[in-house]
Amino acid sequence: MKLEQFPEAIQPHLIPAPAGDLVYRCLGCAAEFGIQELLYTCPSCGQVLLIYDRQFERLKQRSPEAWRQLFDYRRMLTVPALMGIYRYHEFIGPVIPLEAVVYLGEGHTPMVEANAHLQAAVGIRFYYKNDGQNPSASFKDRGMASAFSYINFLIQSGRVSEMLAVCASTGDTSAAAALYASYLQPHIKSAVLLPHKKVTPQQLSQPLGSGARVYEIPGVFDDCMKVVEALSERYDVALLNSKNAWRILGQESYSYEIAQAFEYEMIDKVVVVPIGNAGNITAVMSGFLKFHQVGLIAQLPKIIGVQSAHADPVYQYYREADPAKRRFVPQSVRSSVAQAAMIGNPVSMPRVIELARHYDEMAGQQRVHVVQVTEQAIMDWQLRANRNGHIACTHGGECLAGLEQGLAAGVINKNEVAVIDSTAHALKFAGFQELYFENRFPEDYEVRPDPELINAPKYVHPQTLVRVPAPGAPLSGPDFDQFVQTVTQAIADDLELKKRS
Ligand SMILES: *Cc1c(COP(=O)(O)O)cnc(C)c1O
Ligand SMILES: [Zn+2]
Repeated sequence: MKLEQFPEAIQPHLIPAPAGDLVYRCLGCAAEFGIQELLYTCPSCGQVLLIYDRQFERLKQRSPEAWRQLFDYRRMLTVPALMGIYRYHEFIGPVIPLEAVVYLGEGHTPMVEANAHLQAAVGIRFYYKNDGQNPSASFKDRGMASAFSYINFLIQSGRVSEMLAVCASTGDTSAAAALYASYLQPHIKSAVLLPHKKVTPQQLSQPLGSGARVYEIPGVFDDCMKVVEALSERYDVALLNSKNAWRILGQESYSYEIAQAFEYEMIDKVVVVPIGNAGNITAVMSGFLKFHQVGLIAQLPKIIGVQSAHADPVYQYYREADPAKRRFVPQSVRSSVAQAAMIGNPVSMPRVIELARHYDEMAGQQRVHVVQVTEQAIMDWQLRANRNGHIACTHGGECLAGLEQGLAAGVINKNEVAVIDSTAHALKFAGFQELYFENRFPEDYEVRPDPELINAPKYVHPQTLVRVPAPGAPLSGPDFDQFVQTVTQAIADDLELKKRS
């Protein structure tokens, strides 16, 4: 819809101008630093940072009703900069001018309600939010759109002329970083570090295809992370891991979209997300807190973080009920099909501790829980979901397993409504489905296929056929008729089809 066709009262607010006063705030010593340069950790105490708007209170000048109306009207705009995560510009990056916004089609991923059959099997009403339908096929694009829009802003305002973007990755971060960096060439180039053989072939193909410099190193993600941290401390590069607080801002859009999809009614809602480096759950809590603070939502939804038993440091931390006695212990991880969450020392742990405490305080009760699931449950639930019309990745399976686990443990009630996160597209992790179907999982995964869920192609080549077609060598005449007849019969027999009467 054209700008002049919107109601007059809305028109002046539709296109936001840069505003606000963003600062990095240290979660350790509470020091604040300006955003004119890229910071990842506190220069005084080394802790992680989050970005705050010192003028956030100004957002309360607009009524909750007016905010809801504004976001609903923005849905009809055709301005590219406002069609992705920056629909919520005032909450995500109010200082970024729209000319600097990089939009590659991220955000506003569909929420698909599970069919009656699957809902009955799980015992609760729920939706999958398909974040695999982002441009690089994972939710990481939300954070990259934010981080690269900020870098683009630095370039456009002449503060930076060229930049090398680096990240460590379990696969999806590098795919997203390489994609956004390639859009901003020639100013930006990217280099990504991957743990050798710990990303899927599909994920490896992504940064290669985007033209990034790709390095594989021995070890696991946590080892890659140490190397890129050393790189970003000693050299002039931009770190694109979720340590970068701009990533968190962009990923808050996930919460804003859920709020908008439910017409801002968050009562009895449960949001289930997997936890790896814990940037995602940080952003999800932060997003709901901000909408709650201005009254856009009246209730804070319940948040369930899910971890595999093979990589569960956050779960172990919260197992201790007494906050005063909790101790964070980094873990060495074991092989996990939720490979993008196979992280033993999550960078965002201090953010989680702080935000979960604040979240529960604002809600007046415990609203953040962490549950643990087995590798077996992750695979079984992923395959079951996809047999009912979904496109869940293994982490989407992990969320569904977590939903079931949460119900069994009584942290979720069956009268609530859940939104579970398929953080990536099923195709990125097709290799795990193949291992399952072929019963070839290495011992350490601890996954045994359920025969009911196994599927495999059948090669139909009846012995009686003398000649079959081949590429470049088609059949014709009686040979071809014979081929069609015989193969048709074989398939009809196998499917036990009834003849048309
Ligand atoms: C990154 C990632 C995760 C884990 O998210 P964190 O922010 O690291 O906790 C889960 N699933 C997929 C598909 C991912 O790419
Ligand atoms: Zn500090």
